[in-house]
Amino acid sequence: MSTQYTPVIGLEVHAELLTRTKMFCACPVVDTAITKPNTSICPVCSGMPGALPVINRQAVELGLRVALALNSNIAPFSLFARKNYYYPDLPKGYQISQYEYPLALGGALTVTTSSGAETIQLRRIHLEEDTGKLTHASDNQGKYSLVDLNRAGIALLEIVTEPVLHSLESVRAYSTGLRAILKYIKASSGDMEKGAMRFEANISMMKVNDLELGKRVEIKNLNSFRAMEKAIQYEIDRQTRILDQGGLVDQETVGWDDTNGRTISQRSKEEAHDYRYFPEPDLPPLIVEESWIDSIRLSLPELPLAKKMRFISTFELNDYHAALLCIDPDVADYFEQVVQCKAPVSPQQIANWITGDVFAYCNQRELSILEIPITPTVLSYIIDQVENGKISRANGRQVLIEAMSSGNRPEQLIQEHGYGILEDEAALTTMVNNLITQAASEAKAYRSGKVSLLEWFVGQAMQQTHGKADPNHLRELIRKTLDKQVTNNQ
Ligand SMILES: [Zn+2]
Repeated sequence: MSTQYTPVIGLEVHAELLTRTKMFCACPVVDTAITKPNTSICPVCSGMPGALPVINRQAVELGLRVALALNSNIAPFSLFARKNYYYPDLPKGYQISQYEYPLALGGALTVTTSSGAETIQLRRIHLEEDTGKLTHASDNQGKYSLVDLNRAGIALLEIVTEPVLHSLESVRAYSTGLRAILKYIKASSGDMEKGAMRFEANISMMKVNDLELGKRVEIKNLNSFRAMEKAIQYEIDRQTRILDQGGLVDQETVGWDDTNGRTISQRSKEEAHDYRYFPEPDLPPLIVEESWIDSIRLSLPELPLAKKMRFISTFELNDYHAALLCIDPDVADYFEQVVQCKAPVSPQQIANWITGDVFAYCNQRELSILEIPITPTVLSYIIDQVENGKISRANGRQVLIEAMSSGNRPEQLIQEHGYGILEDEAALTTMVNNLITQAASEAKAYRSGKVSLLEWFVGQAMQQTHGKADPNHLRELIRKTLDKQVTNNQ
């Protein structure tokens, strides 16, 4: 990328709210991927003339929770409007959305990037409804499209940043941080596979040391973090190339073609939609009472940043691991449960195991931490076995993987494989090394000639193996280790 230009990026996130029913009717919210098309619809969400919408209180409450979590200013009065356009997945011919008077204004999310803490300013947060879904198909009769209105009218929350993001890293940190908050307060599943979180990005390039922004390109319908990052990078490169060659970037709306890895122009500034917004005549203004806001504020859980800071101060975790554990509230809870198991292992060791082997296993199989059949007690047992030298690290990881896939008890797996310390020379050596390190003063005394202490070391080692090891073998191992350290020290 040319160093002459800085990207200026704004993000719009559309999050499906976790309501029981749709935004303006009593139709249940269903998983549209597995539900028979057009089975959760009614006159309101299918746009029948004369049907009257009603505001969903739960949707407003979830929107308010998000606004409070993001320190946004909640408007005591907001208004729904009609955004008029025609599309086959929009049976009413308009979408109900908040326009001039949104639910909340301002707010911010502080994220961490490699250059430190960065505060991303928000512009607004508003409520709206989703559209239906079109499926394009073809058979020997020709091409045709199918409409499913199960999604039409599902409550969406749109969260819009100011154009204050300047790198892909910041975009990534903001979107994962926002997703974490949505999940913590149970406002949205944040499940991108199911389209519960979608993005739109606007990008322009600003000449360094120049305050004037370049022409803005809007990328629509980005359905995953990966697609969003690729699309933004593509636009940054494309616009930089045009500017470097002395050209001008057209203001336009583009779509992301994931298969070919490029953006495609959808419409230029001249073709921009005029949605002819006007206030929705069938809905009253939305009035939010101060007392309602207060009670919602009190009900908010500990948020990701606060949890991360607590993990760092209470458990002495490093910033990196604390942040990784706090992205998902289920993972953070799981970590705390393992810590509470009181096995003689440190929270940092537990964090290493969860963000290392456990995450790798879950990612490979696309499982959440709640879907693996391994309780906090079992994980804490395995970590103790390895970290305290009872089995080798390689064997411990093998036991963990088998326990995660079969649900079998690790004690049984260790026995079946013969991974126990008595059969495992490497593990025995680790245990002896740890023992000598921990008993530094005895080791020193031994080396200065108090050789009778050798028997004391053997006794300690026998205790750790519950008396099952061969004392003669242990004595040799300990003597060799102590002598080797003497040689090393000289
Ligand atoms: Zn309905």
